[in-house]
Amino acid sequence: MPHHHHHIQKLHARLIKTGHHNDHLSLRPLLLSCATLSLSYARSLLYSIPSPDAFAWNTLIRAHANATTTKADSPPSNALNLFVEMRQRGVSPDHYTFPFALKACARLAFLQTGKAIHSQAVTLGFDSDIFVQNTLIHLYGNCGLVESACQVFDEMPHRDLVSWSATIACFANNGLGEEALAAFREMQVATSLRPDEVMMVSVVSAVSTLGALELGRWVDFYVRRSAFDITVSMGTALIVMYSKCGCIGSAVKVFREMPERNELTWTALINGFALHGQSKEALRTFYEMKQSGFRPDYVTFIGVLSACSHGGLLEQGWQLFNSIRRDYGIDPGLEHYGCMVDLLGRAGLLNECYDFIERMQIAPNSIIWRTLLGACANYSNVKLAEHVKRRISELDPHHDGDYVLLSNAYGGLGRWVEKAGVRCSMQERGIGKRPGCSLIEVDRVIHEFVAGDESHPQSKEINEMLGLILEQLRSVGYAPDTSNVLFDIEEEEKERALSYHSEKLAVAFALLSSHHGRTIRVVKNLRICHDCHIFMKLVSGIFHREIIVRDRNRFHHFREGFCSCGDYW
Ligand code: ZN
Ligand code: ZN
Repeated sequence: MPHHHHHIQKLHARLIKTGHHNDHLSLRPLLLSCATLSLSYARSLLYSIPSPDAFAWNTLIRAHANATTTKADSPPSNALNLFVEMRQRGVSPDHYTFPFALKACARLAFLQTGKAIHSQAVTLGFDSDIFVQNTLIHLYGNCGLVESACQVFDEMPHRDLVSWSATIACFANNGLGEEALAAFREMQVATSLRPDEVMMVSVVSAVSTLGALELGRWVDFYVRRSAFDITVSMGTALIVMYSKCGCIGSAVKVFREMPERNELTWTALINGFALHGQSKEALRTFYEMKQSGFRPDYVTFIGVLSACSHGGLLEQGWQLFNSIRRDYGIDPGLEHYGCMVDLLGRAGLLNECYDFIERMQIAPNSIIWRTLLGACANYSNVKLAEHVKRRISELDPHHDGDYVLLSNAYGGLGRWVEKAGVRCSMQERGIGKRPGCSLIEVDRVIHEFVAGDESHPQSKEINEMLGLILEQLRSVGYAPDTSNVLFDIEEEEKERALSYHSEKLAVAFALLSSHHGRTIRVVKNLRICHDCHIFMKLVSGIFHREIIVRDRNRFHHFREGFCSCGDYW
């Protein structure tokens, strides 16, 4: 870098000597080359020009909007400052200016600024430009405004690969897996465009949110058949996809075969093991990651800590938790505290857990308190439970700011995998969304069930089937376990009778419609309740069907009356 710097200064000096330093055309190559090398030098060069033209401003705005780091003095927000200054100085933006400025907004998820720039583009007649429209889709997608993104897309007279890709990414990153796949199929039917690697990464991520293994295998096959290189981001997306679809073995295989990995790849595998309750494997991978010279980040620690909590590894959990700030300079977030609360709660250390929450350095949210409430339910500590319930009712139930913040923090370049994860967990936790919901894939078609919902076309048959199943279960001594209902653990229990929990409906539907002996895979957005857990165990035994439920926290593999979690979750 210093070497190049020197070169640029010499070039600059020569321009000054030959009297060309105020000549816009002579300055262009200089501006372009130093914008790629040093943003601050490029800025000082810009300010040394008496009246820079639109090209000069565009060069600087683009360089800042594209800069790989969003941290140090935040180049994308400087891009916006430059845009404002350009307008103040009366320089007319051209059709290059708007996509660059909007890109900066998209990367920062600055919705208000983005909207303001959008309306300026409309005023100046640049809104029909395809680059402007593509960036708008990107912006609205990153800000979670799926409808606005769709509106831009729908109104486009001409669409290119980037338009489709941005739209598919918008759906996938906002947890709308089915819509993402529908858009992907539509593109294949309606256009002759060929998907690229960036688009396929979004498609893989869409499959992850659905937990649809058959679709996932098809997409993996498609990627390999199309001879896409398994890049770091593609491999990482496949690892996330396989682990979220309940196939940790395939995730490990993808990991082993990857020619190159980064910290996100390692983190994806660690989180995969954690999700599957393979705590020791998760920790082993964590130490291996460090040995290989990769630095664990915020998300990595969520993985290892949740592995500790699923495995009941109290001592390791404390060690890791304490090292987050001390050894890595990362401030623990709600997820990390949540894992510790879970770990202490499961161990029955209820008072210690309560004190831990009281001493948290950030305000606990209702999920943290509900985790302790769950532990109170397990250990039948009604007195503490009542106290905790009061704390929950003090909190604003619709406050989801923490998630949005975290999601924005991950908005930077190449971090979309986690970002999608955060968005998903927002959905999975039911924030701003319907309460209990389960997805099930039968013959590559996704069916969705909401607690007590009767909108499914086969709703009548499903309810009859569920009635038959419950009758069979009662004959072997099943009685609905309502303890969670009394403890008010999830919204779902409060509102609906236990027998209509969405995962029960999904399993009834699967027994009706899928082939004998095939594993039933359910994706549930909330944590599975005690009663549904007992239900699944009994069904797996009586009907000799393997059932795999991915709930908010982990996978449960039910086989012949037993669950892989050992009834400890
Ligand atoms: Zn339930
Ligand atoms: Zn289980």
